[in-house]
Amino acid sequence: MTLPGERRRRRKRAFLSAGILALSGIVGGGVLAASNTWIGLSVGLAGLVAALVVLYRPGGVPILVYHSISPDASWLPWSTNTSVRPEVFRCHLQTLKNGGWTVKSTLDIVRDRQAGKRINDKTVVLQFDDGYLDNLVFAAPILREFSMPATFFASLDFIEQGKAIREDNDKLGPADWTGYMTVAELSLMDADPLFDIEAHGVNHARVPISDKPVEQLTEANWLRHAPLAWAYDSKNKARWFEAETPPPPLFIGEMVPENDSALSGRWWNDGETETEVAYVQRVGHALNRSRKELGEILGKDVVIFAWPFDRYCPVSVAAAKEAGFVAVTGGRGENRPEEDPTILSRVHIHDRAFGRGPLWLEGLALRARVNSASGRLVWHFLVVLAARIRSRRFGRPGYGPVS
Ligand SMILES: [Zn+2]
Repeated sequence: MTLPGERRRRRKRAFLSAGILALSGIVGGGVLAASNTWIGLSVGLAGLVAALVVLYRPGGVPILVYHSISPDASWLPWSTNTSVRPEVFRCHLQTLKNGGWTVKSTLDIVRDRQAGKRINDKTVVLQFDDGYLDNLVFAAPILREFSMPATFFASLDFIEQGKAIREDNDKLGPADWTGYMTVAELSLMDADPLFDIEAHGVNHARVPISDKPVEQLTEANWLRHAPLAWAYDSKNKARWFEAETPPPPLFIGEMVPENDSALSGRWWNDGETETEVAYVQRVGHALNRSRKELGEILGKDVVIFAWPFDRYCPVSVAAAKEAGFVAVTGGRGENRPEEDPTILSRVHIHDRAFGRGPLWLEGLALRARVNSASGRLVWHFLVVLAARIRSRRFGRPGYGPVS
């Protein structure tokens, strides 16, 4: 598994320190065994201090990303890795509160970092991708209960049509809380001083980047591959999951080609790769539309962009800045003062963090995640352990909209 930049260094630091600790223990123990107690104890203690110094480096600002918050998100083919049950979400917020974490809005953090202001230790940011209706129904009331701010990222083609406002979860059943928010619902959220709606692109699509086959399209997997059809159709797609057959150009039995997010990969079409010029133009157009049209819908300046699938490239970052976005996601750092304040690094939060288990275990996993992401690497071993156990049960997060 290749891990980019800071994340790889973080893992390296954690294992290096564990190595130092283990080595000092062995050497110290050896000397102790040779009955020179004082030297043995000193070596052991020095090793312990060295390991703790390497492992304790707070100062990062964890940005936690959620997607769906729902008791049952089975309508989403990637719900296993992107949906969190409301009781687990509440437990996460309680864990943050108990741990003394302050939740700040994305905009506050971006502005403070750009102004070079010192951000208090134990500050965290909450974000939600995709604009699911369940964010309004389940996440918003819990966030209000804790007075915690959050940012919700919406894609233009996935705004539910109509004027419905479906806020009251007592009157809604599982069949009602599928899909995405309407303009009225997004506006209602944005009008709440705790919440901001920001941009998540236009069509959340993936595009083929070569003719290399990945797997065969079947009745069982086509919904998961639906993002591969989204760039071919400019219509509203908020009800895409209700389709009974794959949308063109997907056909059962055909091979799914190697693909990437439409905003980070050059489109392979009719045996040819899109030219650099066409790619720059396409990405620029999507980012401009995303900022302009969402801004018109909400009657405000939209300034933050979250990359679909968390995928981007230098061309798309330049296009986002050109379009007027002041910050984008996709960073691989820890949001430290010395990092670029216009790039936000995020941590994806899953339900059933250890594969299964009681609520307190979900709280413990969140505690480990948030501490590790802030640079308190003592917690990193627990994060790695949870991820190993979880992937054994659910597999590694595949390429559904993981962002
Ligand atoms: Zn997304």
